[in-house]
Amino acid sequence: MVYLRDADEIQAIREAAQLVGRTLRMLSGHVRPGVTTVELDRLAETFIRDHGGRPAFKGYRGFPASICPSVNAEVVHGIPGSYALREGDIIGIDVGVEKGGYHGDAARTFAVGDISAAASRLLQVTEEALERAVRQARAGNRIGDISHAVQSHAEGNGFSVVRTLVGHGIGREMHEEPQVPNYGPPARGPRLMAGQVIAIEPMINSGGHEVVVESDGWTIRTKDGSLSAHFEHTVAVGPDGPEILSDPGKEG
Ligand code: MG
Repeated sequence: MVYLRDADEIQAIREAAQLVGRTLRMLSGHVRPGVTTVELDRLAETFIRDHGGRPAFKGYRGFPASICPSVNAEVVHGIPGSYALREGDIIGIDVGVEKGGYHGDAARTFAVGDISAAASRLLQVTEEALERAVRQARAGNRIGDISHAVQSHAEGNGFSVVRTLVGHGIGREMHEEPQVPNYGPPARGPRLMAGQVIAIEPMINSGGHEVVVESDGWTIRTKDGSLSAHFEHTVAVGPDGPEILSDPGKEG
């Protein structure tokens, strides 16, 4: 079942998603060598609750925290803990918020201090892949146009696309139909309609595309130990083109 949202529902999702964007912007000021991932989690939870939201990941299928921090070879779904960030790390932070019965979901991968040129390029290409994918989120296009935009940009730059995890519809639930893969041919798959809201989230590896699950049952990391980056936005398929609902806007 794919939902088409009216203007009031889009506004409700926008409020949740914008709070996600603002949380990520707040966290960007705290990502530095020495900070632990559990400290970032506490900052995020406090910020979300202070702004009228609920951390949507907390308790989701038993997940214990408000953010998913994923460092270096970790792809997504990392669990906050005592690890202190080190100069040269990259850290993906995925945040979900429920507010007023609707959800927002977004992620960014941050550099910790100075990072290698190779890591910097991975971050840049993954963010560009997301930007290109968002531009395809137009009524009349197909899901495959989004998938192809990510895959062609990532692979064209020598990186690989994680296949076992995908983007998704979002609204009343954190994960709704349709699935939004980050690979596949253009002009295939379900057609996009005005009023749909989807989370687009390329996960790009500097080495091979294969991933494994850590023994904690949550953390996904690259099988070959290569670096991985993750950028995500909640996007509305509007009548006049895509709108990034998780854009934090100008004010704090
Ligand atoms: Mg997501």
